[in-house]
Amino acid sequence: MNSLMISVSGVRGIVGETLMPEIVVKFGVAFGKFVREKRVVIGSDTRTSNQMFRYALFSGLLSVGCKVIDVGICPTPSIQLMVEKLKAGGGIIITGSHNPVEWNALKFVRHDGIFLYPEEGERLLTIYKEKRIKRAAWNEIKSVYYDTSAIENHLEKLLEIVDKDNIRRKKFKVVLDACNGAASKISPLLLRRLGCKVTEINCKPDGVFPHSPEPIPSNLRELSLKVKTEKADIGFAHDADADRIAIATEEGNVLPEDYPLLLATKFVLGGKRGLVVTNLSTTSALDDIAREFKCKVMRTRIGDVNVSKCMKEHNAVIGGEGNGGVIIPQVHYARDGMAAIALILEYITKSNKTVSALANELPKYYTIKGKLEFPREKFVLLESILKEEFKNYELNFLDGVKVILKEGWIHIRLSGTEPIIRIFAEAKNKEKAEELFKTGIREVEKVLVAR
Ligand code: MG
Repeated sequence: MNSLMISVSGVRGIVGETLMPEIVVKFGVAFGKFVREKRVVIGSDTRTSNQMFRYALFSGLLSVGCKVIDVGICPTPSIQLMVEKLKAGGGIIITGSHNPVEWNALKFVRHDGIFLYPEEGERLLTIYKEKRIKRAAWNEIKSVYYDTSAIENHLEKLLEIVDKDNIRRKKFKVVLDACNGAASKISPLLLRRLGCKVTEINCKPDGVFPHSPEPIPSNLRELSLKVKTEKADIGFAHDADADRIAIATEEGNVLPEDYPLLLATKFVLGGKRGLVVTNLSTTSALDDIAREFKCKVMRTRIGDVNVSKCMKEHNAVIGGEGNGGVIIPQVHYARDGMAAIALILEYITKSNKTVSALANELPKYYTIKGKLEFPREKFVLLESILKEEFKNYELNFLDGVKVILKEGWIHIRLSGTEPIIRIFAEAKNKEKAEELFKTGIREVEKVLVAR
């Protein structure tokens, strides 16, 4: 399979195989034209290929007359905040996020710090495909400037949204696993400024990942163990660009991926009622929590930009995704692992409970996720079969097909970047979830064998 993926949400590939500096130069040129030769912020996670791509972006952007501001190595949300702060025309983030170390990618940011909306991503791709793009003459070429304030700027914002004095009094013992990624500096600083005693693991920002950077329980055994041996109150882990987090309880249990969003939502709604926004595949536990506070949940298509956009348009109080990506609008409309850490520590402080006790109070669901290879052109047929088969149930076609039954739901959708179909099923217990998942697989297989 060709590993270079170019889509409205960015470009991603394997370093040295498909993602080459020459492609990155071209994206620099296209983005420079897209923002109309304004100032562009560049930042990256810690991957070893970032320097190579950084200079490629500089070349492309400078060649069309942009001024470049390099904010260095820092988390994706810190870079997004710098685009806003510096009133830049946009930004480009070099990060492979949660993907394995051999991958890297570019993410494009609007002037307001949110990722490009899908229609803007389309426009960028159109420019990228143009054969001839007018370049700047020798006397129109600008420079690269360096700004090292991204982390301090972010920390300042984070410390404004929580009751720091109260958290400090708790003197939490915290273990942090930054996967040698972009949060290696900022998260230990944040925790110490919140009065915590921090044990750092994998906080060497060299881009050599000690484990797969996806913050899921199977990758976080070291964190789990360390929380127990240190007798810590809580453990946190980030992916390589720190827009996501995972939580380990004081017993060393790494909580399911969707718990950071559930905990943050419960805490936020307890203080201020309002709209919650998430995508279609996120657990129904979020609806149960919102209902408890008489609040509404709005669901969007998959992709964090859709959640951010909807939150901004509808003035939501909290939102995010079930993968550990929490969006707290007082900071910005972006997934922010550090903001989630601050908020969860405040929740523990105010509730005066342990994190495992808070986790136990959450509504329980069982979710199964799977994928199958699937030709895109067959999706229309699948859609019509599902429509007929489940005509007596609630159906949602916003992003693929979601069948909502009394005992749970099945969501089947095409991947935006790979020739695969994703199948999600959720129910109150394992048996029922498995049954729903099997139903989903059966429907997809029916279409696969059909001519
Ligand atoms: Mg990420």
